[in-house]
Amino acid sequence: LIFLGIESSCDDTAAAIVTGEGRILSSVVAGQTEMHADFGGVVPEIAARAHTERLDHCVEQALQEARLGLSDLSAVAVTAGPGLIGGVMAGVMTAKGIAAGAGLPLVGVNHLAGHALTPRLTDGIGFPYLMLLVSGGHCQFLRVDGPQEFHRLGGTIDDAPGEAFDKLAKLLALPQPGGPSVEAEARLGDGDRFDLPRPLLDRPGCDMSFSGLKTAALRLRDRLIAEQGGLRQADRQDLCAAFQSAMAGILAEKSRRALAASPVPALAVAGGVAANQTIRAALQQVAAEAGATFLAPPLRLCTDNAAMIAWAGIERYREGARDGMDLAARPRWPLDQSAAPMLGSGK
Ligand code: ATP
Ligand code: FE
Repeated sequence: LIFLGIESSCDDTAAAIVTGEGRILSSVVAGQTEMHADFGGVVPEIAARAHTERLDHCVEQALQEARLGLSDLSAVAVTAGPGLIGGVMAGVMTAKGIAAGAGLPLVGVNHLAGHALTPRLTDGIGFPYLMLLVSGGHCQFLRVDGPQEFHRLGGTIDDAPGEAFDKLAKLLALPQPGGPSVEAEARLGDGDRFDLPRPLLDRPGCDMSFSGLKTAALRLRDRLIAEQGGLRQADRQDLCAAFQSAMAGILAEKSRRALAASPVPALAVAGGVAANQTIRAALQQVAAEAGATFLAPPLRLCTDNAAMIAWAGIERYREGARDGMDLAARPRWPLDQSAAPMLGSGK
């Protein structure tokens, strides 16, 4: 099998070619960070336009890098949701055009399934396993039982961690994206100087909350400014360290509970926040304590990309899934259809 994957649900336009054996022949990602930089967030209208302008070129480049033509493909997989609807529609229409033109089967993929199945592409692990998806828009625990079987154990009831990192960076006038800036500051700081709250840790279950942490950081900043007439370098570093340590503490404790509730052989992470070394180390320790393997795919496959969409398409295809020209773009699409609609999914 050779699949073309297409992804355009947020602010990355991506195309990739992946084989049935899990070989990534090409993976092209065109980001839009600079286009949205002045607006403090992704502007859906700008994103949709950029996807429309770039999709064809990304697909061409993915084919070129893989040294393949459309006639070499077995099928086209595309993100059909959840995400910003203009972008998802642009991707779905491109995929339909290619599938119809080249006479190829079409497979619609849930973006979150793409993230959740990535450890099978990178490490070939078997089912079941636990996936912690932590990004700028999502935060949830999924028990992955099959290519199309996901059980949501819990997730954020408000902000996503990446979003919280970005907001903290904004509060402290650090560059965006906030995660890497906060991590760099935190490395030089003292995590024990300030004590930030860890919401919902006193409650059972795997749900998480991060907005209180963000508000506490804001109050602390304002108090320091009021007392000292400004923020010193060390204050900023200590605040970042305290924030990161609270974040790692929450994610680690909830992962411990998720593994206790669903004892599986492996804990995997995906999403941009999984790049954070402190968070990674904390999760690795939790997995080790539970006797589980810890899997963190390389960062380029943790953040949005089309290789994961091609792969999730292959997995669905093998289960017999095919979509027609009526494949719809869905702004919301919970992975676990049995669960209540996701709060704070960010999409
Ligand atoms: P989604 O994948 O849910 O559509 P997204 O595109 O915003 O959302 P990603 O690209 O997976 O998410 O991740 C981006 C987020 O990861 C940003 O919020 C960024 O601040 C955060 N991030 C990146 N590196 C780090 C880091 N080292 N520490 C903490 N957070 C980080
Ligand atoms: Fe994503």
